[in-house]
Amino acid sequence: MFDHSSFDAHEGVHMFHDAASGLRAIVAIHSTARGPAAGGCRMWNYDTGEAMLRDALRLSHGMSYKNAMADIPLGGGKAVIWGNAKTDKSPDLFRAFGRAVESLQGKYITAEDVGIDVADMQIVREETAHVAGLDQGIAASGDPSPITAMGIYLGIRETAKRAFGTDDLNGRTIAVQGVGSVGGHVCEHLAKAGANLIITDIDQVALADVSSRTGARIVTPDEIYDAEADIFSPNALGAIVNEQTLERFRVKAIAGGANNQLIVPEMGELLRRRGILYAPDYVINGGGIINVCAEISGTYSREWVDAKVQTLMETLGGVLDAALETNEPTNHVADRIARQRIGRTD
Ligand code: NAD
Repeated sequence: MFDHSSFDAHEGVHMFHDAASGLRAIVAIHSTARGPAAGGCRMWNYDTGEAMLRDALRLSHGMSYKNAMADIPLGGGKAVIWGNAKTDKSPDLFRAFGRAVESLQGKYITAEDVGIDVADMQIVREETAHVAGLDQGIAASGDPSPITAMGIYLGIRETAKRAFGTDDLNGRTIAVQGVGSVGGHVCEHLAKAGANLIITDIDQVALADVSSRTGARIVTPDEIYDAEADIFSPNALGAIVNEQTLERFRVKAIAGGANNQLIVPEMGELLRRRGILYAPDYVINGGGIINVCAEISGTYSREWVDAKVQTLMETLGGVLDAALETNEPTNHVADRIARQRIGRTD
């Protein structure tokens, strides 16, 4: 564990197994320096336990940075459940997960991430109060995806302003990878702003639905990397900027909601050299956690959420400006600010 390449002085890495329900979960707590560690729960059919652990370590680390950049009083953590979200869910599984979260006594607060929906979290709530993203109860904020998507749309405009000299998206072509909870809403905002969309997903139903509502052109999951577009917006999974894809991008900017888009941080510098402006993922996609934070505070206010998302976009603009001015990769600038904010100055 302590030699793991994704280990970054995590405060705690907790493994849970429940034989009766089949739960296999990891909760990784990266930092509680700013408050209780908050971050969604992902359900994914990992190939190996090692892949699952790496995801938990990387995602929780990303949450520390994300919450710090959003300037909210939360630390960073993440939960991963090993299983197929379409076939392996059961109420008992989520109750067992709820008991796991409860055992951490509030050090970790969970919510939805890939593969998990509000109904799952309602079951988790039966066993623990340390859960957000609910649609019932005090200050319930529901699915955070629409707010995440709103932030990404605004962030795409901030990025466009620097890459093209204008944030007007009318007539711009944007390639969107993943049209799920976040990507679907992002597409709607972009279409309303007059952008031409090229979309991909592995879910044909979601693709057809988004295409019919936005007029988007559909391409295969592999073709999206070669799309002749102005901006690439990744809203599916991580590690999509890698040795194989780097040379294929024909865009001037990458801005989207997926977590951990760079397979390794060094990709930031390679993107910069290719003249591609990268909006650091954990900055642009902080809208959802801001929404969750409002719920955790006990007094949900949409005005507060909107104002906080606006401030986050100013932070994103500041990161992009600073990077352009100093010829640094954008992720280095963001990492530096985030680490300062969580008291890690090494
Ligand atoms: P989701 O499961 O609703 O959507 C993901 C979509 O990606 C699905 O439609 C899926 O079919 C598609 N997909 C999976 N593999 C693909 C592939 N190889 N090529 C193309 N499409 C593929 O999840 P979501 O909530 O929309 O989250 C999307 C991303 O945004 C994730 O990386 C998540 O961690 C991140 N994120 C989500 C939120 C949120 O509020 N939901 C907040 C911050 C970050």
